[in-house]
Amino acid sequence: MTSLSPDQIIRQEILALSAYHVPPAENMIKLDAMENPYRLPSSLSKEITRITADAHINRYPDPNATALKKTLRASLAIPDGMEIMLGNGSDEIIQIIMLAAAKPGAKLLTVEPGFAMFKIIATLTNMEYIGIPLKPDFSLDLDTMLTAIARHRPAVLFLAYPNNPSGNLFDEIALDKIIRASPGLVVIDEAYHPFAGKSFIEKLTDYPNLLVMRTLSKLGLAGLRLGLLTGRLDWLHHLEKLRLPYNVNVITQLAAEKIMYHYDILRHQAETIKQTRARLMTFLEHLKGVEPYPSDANFILFRLDNASQIFRQLQRHGILVKNLDNSHPLLKNCLRVTVGTPEENDRFCNTLQDLLTGN
Ligand SMILES: *Cc1c(COP(=O)(O)O)cnc(C)c1O
Repeated sequence: MTSLSPDQIIRQEILALSAYHVPPAENMIKLDAMENPYRLPSSLSKEITRITADAHINRYPDPNATALKKTLRASLAIPDGMEIMLGNGSDEIIQIIMLAAAKPGAKLLTVEPGFAMFKIIATLTNMEYIGIPLKPDFSLDLDTMLTAIARHRPAVLFLAYPNNPSGNLFDEIALDKIIRASPGLVVIDEAYHPFAGKSFIEKLTDYPNLLVMRTLSKLGLAGLRLGLLTGRLDWLHHLEKLRLPYNVNVITQLAAEKIMYHYDILRHQAETIKQTRARLMTFLEHLKGVEPYPSDANFILFRLDNASQIFRQLQRHGILVKNLDNSHPLLKNCLRVTVGTPEENDRFCNTLQDLLTGN
């Protein structure tokens, strides 16, 4: 019997996908992935070393991550009565939600340009993807959204707040209207909450169809892979059935619990990043030929002529940003830079200025 080839076995939607591309970053100033550039204080990282050395990695992790959840509940001020589900990064939570909702013909609605994983995971899970364009200034097109919601009746609606890759917070009243108009589940992805200061978490009690997602990645723990979903038990009870029992490993549970007990350290770093963002924004605003967009996140989207060429030149000078040119019509000639340390930002600013003035 001759066996079938992979492309005869693998689903057509998967064959058509290209793998998520992560460019090599060795020895680069890495300003492409919204990481926190700061390390933990050495006293705390020494404590983590000790804890991980003593960890029982011969045993499976606590499937309920009880101790970690308790610390997260307190540090992130999860409203009373709301449950928590943990994911191996919030990407995994997006996947769990879509797997749960992917009935034949079920639709996933979001905005464009938006977070790339919404579309990728919708494809993986066989949800029908609907992307509604934002306005050219990246604000919500409320009328178009409400019309699309009425027409498509999406099972799930995902919105990042602040949005990635544009960096802005959507209008709160418009979002309220969208939640109220939605027949299905609405998930607000607050990955950039530490830099924004606004949240829908308090509205969980108002809306039975709302869930809020957070992650520790942008806060400084991208390497640990920990995301969280909070909301009512009647949703999370079912979503928990799709979560693989040991998705958050022993080391992550222990380290995250310890670090979140010292949440003020990460919050302080986020405040520093916000102040640095203001300086980076001022620089970009004054740079001729560059149009930065307002940001409530730890990155800035900006438009300039010949963006792809400038991107490659920055890369040659050892600076890695994200090239969004050609990724969406609204992002023509756009690059996205993560806020780094003041030194990293200076290197980026000086190099960009030199490239633009032909030095
Ligand atoms: C970075 C990002 C995430 C992914 O976070 P992980 O927890 O690292 O998987 C989720 N949503 C948005 C909008 C992001 O930008």
